[in-house]
Amino acid sequence: MFFRKPKPTAVVFDIDKTLLKSQFFFKPSGGFDHPRFAKWAQETDTPGIASTVAALHNARRQGHEIHLITARPETLRRSTYRQLSKAGIPFHGMYFAKGTEAPSGPASVLYKSSTRAEIAKTRSIIASYGDSPTDFLGKHTGTKWQVVNESSIVRYQQSVSRTKTIMKLGGTKSGAGKVLGAIARLGKSL
Ligand SMILES: [Mg+2]
Repeated sequence: MFFRKPKPTAVVFDIDKTLLKSQFFFKPSGGFDHPRFAKWAQETDTPGIASTVAALHNARRQGHEIHLITARPETLRRSTYRQLSKAGIPFHGMYFAKGTEAPSGPASVLYKSSTRAEIAKTRSIIASYGDSPTDFLGKHTGTKWQVVNESSIVRYQQSVSRTKTIMKLGGTKSGAGKVLGAIARLGKSL
C-alpha cells in the first residue's frame, strides 16, 4: 500500500501595506507613480506591520512555509530583500511581477492568482494575508485575512460580486469577464 506524502503547508503574504508600512505615490494626473515608488524602495527602510509580522512568525513556528507574492517588479528584488531583512521578516519563497512596473487592478489579480496556482502545485496554501481585493480573488487562498489601515487583521469579506470588484479595481465589464475566465482556467472553479 502506497501513501502519497502530504504536500507541505504554506501561508501566503502580500508585502506592501500587509507586511511592510509602504509609501505609495500617485501622479497629479492620476495613476500610480512607479518611478517614485521604486526610488522610495531603493533608498528607504520601512517598519514591518506588527500584527502581520507576528502572524507570519506564528505560522512559521507552526511549521508552515512562508511565501510572499508581491506586485513589485523583479527590478526591485534587491531593495525588497533589504527592506524585509531590516524589518526582520523571513520567508521561504518570494515572487515578483515581470517587467519594470507593478501590475495593477485586473492585471494584478491575474498575476497573484496564477502565482498562487503555481505554488499550489507543490504546496497546500492554508491562508492568505493581504490588504487589497487583488490579494484574494481566485482560488488557492486558504483562509483570507485582510490587513486594514496597516494595523488590524480581519477576516476578508467580499461584499460585491467578483465582476464588480474587478471593475472597481479599474477594469471594464468585458475585461473583468476575461480575468475571471482566465482565473477559472487556473483551477476547477472560482
Ligand atoms: Mg498590498
